[in-house]
Amino acid sequence: MDLILINGNVVTMDTNNKKAEAFAVKAGKFVKVGTNKDVLELKDDNTEVIDLKGKTVVPGFNEAHMHLLNSGYNMHKIDLNGAKSIKEVIERSKKYISMKKPQPGEWILGFGWNQMLFEEKRNLTRNDLDQISTDNPICFIRVCVHSAATNSKAIEIAGITKDTPQPVGGKFYRDENGEPTGIFSETARYMIYDMIPDAGVNEIKEMIMDAAKVASGYGVTSVQTDDFEAMPGKDWRKVLKAYSELVEEGILPVRIYEQCLLPDMGRLKEFLDEGYKTGQGDEYFKIGPLKLLTDGSLGARTAYLSEPYADDPSTSGIYVFSQDELDELACAAHEGGLQLVFHAIGDGAMRQCFKAFEKAQNHKFKEDPRFGIIHLQITDEFLLEEFKRQNVVAYAEPICLNNDIHMAEDRVGKERAKVSYNYRTLFDSGVHVSISSDWPVDSVNPMKNIYVGVTRKDYDGYPEGGWNPEQRLTIEQALYGFTMGSAYASFEEELKGSVEDGKLADFVVLSEDILEIEPDKIQDIEVEMTFMGGKLVYSKA
Ligand SMILES: [Zn+2]
Repeated sequence: MDLILINGNVVTMDTNNKKAEAFAVKAGKFVKVGTNKDVLELKDDNTEVIDLKGKTVVPGFNEAHMHLLNSGYNMHKIDLNGAKSIKEVIERSKKYISMKKPQPGEWILGFGWNQMLFEEKRNLTRNDLDQISTDNPICFIRVCVHSAATNSKAIEIAGITKDTPQPVGGKFYRDENGEPTGIFSETARYMIYDMIPDAGVNEIKEMIMDAAKVASGYGVTSVQTDDFEAMPGKDWRKVLKAYSELVEEGILPVRIYEQCLLPDMGRLKEFLDEGYKTGQGDEYFKIGPLKLLTDGSLGARTAYLSEPYADDPSTSGIYVFSQDELDELACAAHEGGLQLVFHAIGDGAMRQCFKAFEKAQNHKFKEDPRFGIIHLQITDEFLLEEFKRQNVVAYAEPICLNNDIHMAEDRVGKERAKVSYNYRTLFDSGVHVSISSDWPVDSVNPMKNIYVGVTRKDYDGYPEGGWNPEQRLTIEQALYGFTMGSAYASFEEELKGSVEDGKLADFVVLSEDILEIEPDKIQDIEVEMTFMGGKLVYSKA
């Protein structure tokens, strides 16, 4: 036996055997889960024994949707998260420039601004960013990743003037003279992104490792990640090459299920023609579903609603595909062997997704396709039932409420907000629910995510009693969603997600008993150790 852990409070997530004291690991898998006595019988001269001294163990967390490469890329940019004013954005940027001293003409990239937090309560403009530099092009991505702010130099390099037409599926904003203000949303972002030089495979590997180590430090052992368009070159072959080299080198501290973002028929066909299908790979890296973005974000009012926004009746948001285009992509990918998992935040976009899923199944029926919708923020009763009726996986992100409780009722009004973010209803009605963070949009710390899901409060404890508290999850539900629920989303519920004989030995040692602690304190629980395949990949000590 390679490894035995004893004297633990093991929360197994195995419905037949909820708690255990000890377990044994051999060749990267759990081989026995039970009492100290049962497990210690397997000890031999080569066994390492760890005494947990009563500490709590849970299965490794599985992030059902995030952007790993993007998160690593952001670590190489100016951090604009939490900036409370435009002045602060400018100050942070100037500080970065004086430290890094970029070459003339070199791009200056930033991430994480949110105008909702600015005391000026307005978007950044090119004039703001021109105060940082007029020689270096600047691109600052909003926290939701659906909008970017640029300076005049970037707009000049991209060749955009008042005569440039708007792109399909996106928008750049204009001032009263028709000149671009510097904000580019949805597909319009690529008018800027396409100008930013691409990274090489080695740089991509470095970024993936930087992000993976952070995730691992929070107890994440599996990530379902959307990476193909994270870099300016949008070169999925480079991304696959980077992962295959990292797997070969045996250094990745997390397992990958790639959500393949291929948003047009040309790219999808190319991918399918090379023979890629969902599930290909090994326990370290697998090809996941076709991922598409069908709308934008609530913050930027680009989530596609079926009725106009309450706080801006002139818009219902942006849909990225017509129904016909979405159906066509869905049918081709489904027929070609790819699972379908679509980003949809607004109820209008979700209706489009459900229609496309039905079309795909009518086109070619599959017994267990495990279609999914990511985000599912603005729902209604029809949609909540549709998840059940079509057996579609709900990729819930409770952590988004840390921001959205301050905005949802403004955006859609009280009535629509009441039937939105209804994670408890989904769980209780037997829908398959996975949990994730959409990192870098929200924190990759599962304790923050579970805290928000269980309390319906923001990190500061607002509002007292929780927002729409009847939708609070139980701690068990949140844990289940984050482990078994996410494993189900990637067809891997037989392979991982619980501490159970025969499964991959991915587990986490916590500083507190998550089932007993006061819900308000969950966000302070620390990860002491993370194990992947029975190997220690992170230790706080
Ligand atoms: Zn995402």
